[in-house]
Amino acid sequence: METHFSKEQLKNIDNKSSEKIFRKCVHCGFCNATCPTYQLLGDELDGPRGRIYLIKDMLENNKPANEKIVKHIDRCLSCYGCMTTCPSGVNYMHLIDHGRSHIEKTYKRPFPDRFVRSFLSKVLSKSINFRIIAFFSQFAKPFSFFFPKKLKEMIDFMPKSFPKKTLPKMKVYPAQNKKKPVARVALLTGCVQKVISPQINEATIRLLNRHEIEVVIPKGIDCCGSLNHHLGKGDLASQIFKKNISIWYDEYLKNGLDAIISNTSGCGTTLKDYGFIFRSDQDLKKKAKKISELTKDISEYLDENVKLNFIKNKKNNKEYKIAYHSACSMQHGQKIHKEPMNLIKKTGNEVLEIPDGHICCGSAGTYNLLQSEIAKKLLKNKISNIEKIKPQIISTGNIGCITQIAQATKIPILHTVEIIDWYTGGPKPEVLREL
Ligand code: SF4
Ligand code: SF4
Repeated sequence: METHFSKEQLKNIDNKSSEKIFRKCVHCGFCNATCPTYQLLGDELDGPRGRIYLIKDMLENNKPANEKIVKHIDRCLSCYGCMTTCPSGVNYMHLIDHGRSHIEKTYKRPFPDRFVRSFLSKVLSKSINFRIIAFFSQFAKPFSFFFPKKLKEMIDFMPKSFPKKTLPKMKVYPAQNKKKPVARVALLTGCVQKVISPQINEATIRLLNRHEIEVVIPKGIDCCGSLNHHLGKGDLASQIFKKNISIWYDEYLKNGLDAIISNTSGCGTTLKDYGFIFRSDQDLKKKAKKISELTKDISEYLDENVKLNFIKNKKNNKEYKIAYHSACSMQHGQKIHKEPMNLIKKTGNEVLEIPDGHICCGSAGTYNLLQSEIAKKLLKNKISNIEKIKPQIISTGNIGCITQIAQATKIPILHTVEIIDWYTGGPKPEVLREL
């Protein structure tokens, strides 16, 4: 694609990076074929190629965003399905991030929109705020029909109950049985996940400790920053990124870290991008690059580094049909697809691939709250595809997908790490008590 940035504009590091990406695009439109919003809405501007044009036009012409541009950019799920399909290696993720940040700087959204986005930014990215809202939402649930549509949807979306934690809160969870652990890793426990599904972090810790790996949860790390990053709130995201980088890097230097484990693929994708985000920051670029290099999704880490001890006993003597839902951030964002399925296969269960598995379930961070109509259609399609293959259990590696899918089906859904924990000596997950 031809570009027309001036020399002056190219002094800006973000323009310079985006210009290189625009040049790779050959307008072929292959990406439209796998774009969920293009498939649903059929408008060129609701596909990746059209959005690339919109972003290029704003940046090249120093044009402020307008209502039309914002509508089409906001409809993008950031599922990155287009990046998997693109034959020219266009890094759409960096373009859409740049486009969103430009929108946030140049466009004043209508008040209700600003209110909802800032509410989500403040509530979801701080686990303490989320815990408080989650608590009060339980009382508001029976009266949710009194609230404005957006607020009602948010209240309805909150889980009805929150599982209790079973592991004590500690900074370091030591490896079992050996004085010297085989590895030491930091775990990102996540802002929303640790409130609504603490069992996922607990399964991760138990599983790693059982395989002689020490797990550290450094104080001060809460959100990975992706929520604000994808809302285009660059300054807020940057504060979180910087804090995380400095805490993890300190831990790496002082006590050693072999990996930073993410068990939420949406967060892992952002952590792996810290190096790019701080590429021109003289103080942070080396540290950020190191944090990105250390980051591993739990399935990737287990597959590459751990010889798992599977146990057959009374608790897991049944073989299930497990549908694996490959979260977009996992398969398109991090290019991890076969690894989690191979891990589940090793448990002796049958793994089923979901038809059209490359298409998003509509969760996409805060998308299901901000673009609920499109999200509902994607969810309906996903559930229909899952039900076609008649699984007894669904498994995935992202809390957003778990919450989204669970609201539309009675088939129990587990994080992949809960299955691996269970088959290597951990407890049978609570949601399977009736199976
Ligand atoms: S990220 Fe997903 S929704 Fe956005 S343009 Fe690419 S394929 Fe379409
Ligand atoms: S597939 Fe890649 S090169 Fe082709 S239009 Fe889409 S982004 Fe551009």
